[in-house]
Amino acid sequence: MVNRQLINPESIVVVGASNNIRKPGGKLFHNILHGSFGGELYAVNPGEDTIQGRPSFREIKDLPATELAILAIPAVFCAGAVKELARDKGTRAFIIVSAGFGEESSEGKKIESELVEICNRYNASLIGPNCIGVMTPFYQGVFTLPIPKLDPKGCDFISGSGATAVFIMEAGLQKGLKFNMIFSVGNSAQLGVEDVLQYLDETFTEESSRVKILYFESIKDPDRLLRHATNLIRKGCRIAAIKAGTSDAGSRAATSHTGAMASSDLAVDALFRKAGIIRCYGREELTTVASVLSYPKAKGRNFAIITHAGGPAVMLTDTLAEGNLHVPQIKGKKAAELLSHLFPGSSVSNPIDLLATGNAEQLGIAMEYCEKYFGEIDGIIVIFGTPGLFPVYDVYDVLDRKMKQCKKPVFPILPSVTTAAGEIKEFQSKGHINFPDEVLFGRALNKVYNTPKPAGDKVYLDGINLKKVRAVIDSAPDGYLDVESVCAILDAAGISRVREEVATDPDALKKIAAKFGYPVVLKVVGPVHKSDVGGVLVNIRDEETLMTGFQQMKGIEGYQGVLIQQMLEGTELFIGANYEPGFGHVVLCGLGGIYVEALKDVTSGLAPLSVTEAGKMIRSLKSARILDGTRGKEGVNKDLFAEALVRISSLLRYATEIVEMDLNPLIGRPEAVTVVDARIRVEKKKKKAL
Ligand code: ADP
Ligand code: MG
Repeated sequence: MVNRQLINPESIVVVGASNNIRKPGGKLFHNILHGSFGGELYAVNPGEDTIQGRPSFREIKDLPATELAILAIPAVFCAGAVKELARDKGTRAFIIVSAGFGEESSEGKKIESELVEICNRYNASLIGPNCIGVMTPFYQGVFTLPIPKLDPKGCDFISGSGATAVFIMEAGLQKGLKFNMIFSVGNSAQLGVEDVLQYLDETFTEESSRVKILYFESIKDPDRLLRHATNLIRKGCRIAAIKAGTSDAGSRAATSHTGAMASSDLAVDALFRKAGIIRCYGREELTTVASVLSYPKAKGRNFAIITHAGGPAVMLTDTLAEGNLHVPQIKGKKAAELLSHLFPGSSVSNPIDLLATGNAEQLGIAMEYCEKYFGEIDGIIVIFGTPGLFPVYDVYDVLDRKMKQCKKPVFPILPSVTTAAGEIKEFQSKGHINFPDEVLFGRALNKVYNTPKPAGDKVYLDGINLKKVRAVIDSAPDGYLDVESVCAILDAAGISRVREEVATDPDALKKIAAKFGYPVVLKVVGPVHKSDVGGVLVNIRDEETLMTGFQQMKGIEGYQGVLIQQMLEGTELFIGANYEPGFGHVVLCGLGGIYVEALKDVTSGLAPLSVTEAGKMIRSLKSARILDGTRGKEGVNKDLFAEALVRISSLLRYATEIVEMDLNPLIGRPEAVTVVDARIRVEKKKKKAL
């Protein structure tokens, strides 16, 4: 648990402090000494009596009581130091920046476990090992640069990697992004990203910072992440995060880096979406999104672009269109009036183009019209650089003044980062952000606007017979469920399935076919992948073909009988689910048949799904339009498809022993969505969640 001693300690000791500020212990001491810390600062170094002009202690035993200890000593000495500090000096928070633990060797891993054990025994917080440290408004306990000027309105940043934390800060500071607290959790031996987020959730007040950015190499406690991210977002926060290690090779890199297991990427995607976390993939993207998030949200999706150059405005308009954000035409009396203030050849229809000759005054007027008279505009984007003929201090002064007056958010895109470096620096020193690239900015804006709100975790149980589901699961052995059990589960969950019966003799078979009416489908019972062994015959139109088919089925290896089904016409759909340890079930949907296998056009969500989530999963399929019907083929009832997804996801929540479920295909028509093939695999001695 994160405690007060870690965030706002009255006293700090740097164990391994040094006079050499090129060493981590030296730099750490230096950073704290020259930072905002107002309490008692101590140093421990066996060979020195003074460190950086301050008295230093040769041994821990000589120290007075100290609340927070930061250790920059070799791994082998850490456990002894932590024990002595916790036992004798009342220390209740530790930051261990040293490396050489679980990320390096099994002996290191052992020391790490010992550290956790000691800290837990004394109710102490432990950050690290193998990290750069922590910065709060009260102290800057890191051995690295940069050290941002901390601002209570800035973002809270939690990182699973020290070096990446440094680079992300660099990328953010370039833009003028502000930081409030920074935690580098390293190996997360005791406290990980999720724990710090929990702390931010539980201590959230009206004054708390509203933007959180996270960098994960592994998600150790997905449930906790989901819960606290959802809570924070509901309280008015916004969260953006990178989860590195999406590819197999990337996962290997992450594993060797922090000594942690990488979790499955699809599950991460689904979890982020459910929580309302904006997923990013790189430093530039993360810090651009965080910069957008530090603005209040515009009321709607309509933006005015005021520019003095055509190209970037066009690229930005294109980018915004991809995210369904609009640059609407501006017309009417006030538009004409604005035009009269600009040079001939300018345009006001949006983008508002002031031409290369446009000046500070015209920019101010254009911003005023967007703010006051163009009611359809929700936000203003200003693109203003310089070809270097004259300085643009006056332009950015106007921009600064108008930004302070405007109620609509104003996003500055100042691209001349070399030629107008001085002007941009001055502009940013007034507290503003600069987005140097319009397309990166546009994509970030799209992400912010298109990430859904937290979905909630209410389970839809209408017409689902959980008792029946549990009874089937409880009595089933491990492995694929038999046809009867699969049918019983689908029926209990209220999922419609095709009329079907199993038969083992020809007379029974003929009777069933006559009852169903031709055409029928014949399938072998026994083998798991029926088509692969010639075990599916569709469109059987008469008794004779039925009998030939039956003979064929009997010859298949593993034959136990045949399943006879009504033949359905419609669009083939797919619903699948996998159990991801720690995450729960990831539910997938898509079009069936070749669309699943060849095009991999599937979307995912985390069980349990709400009707809204399921609807979104269906609409975000690339092949979604096929569901509306094409070239005379009838469409699919999407509401029923969504309902099937929701029902499946609900039943899975109560049957975590189901490790795999595959409904492929369901046949979708306007009046029904019907399962014609289902496989369910159960594993009761599941591996413990990661
Ligand atoms: P498997 O997945 O084991 O190969 P399926 O039962 O999914 O077997 O059948 C293979 C294909 O046969 C389906 O993708 C579908 O095209 C078709 N099919 C199966 N059952 C029916 C049915 N009742 N009505 C219409 N087509 C069907
Ligand atoms: Mg199938």
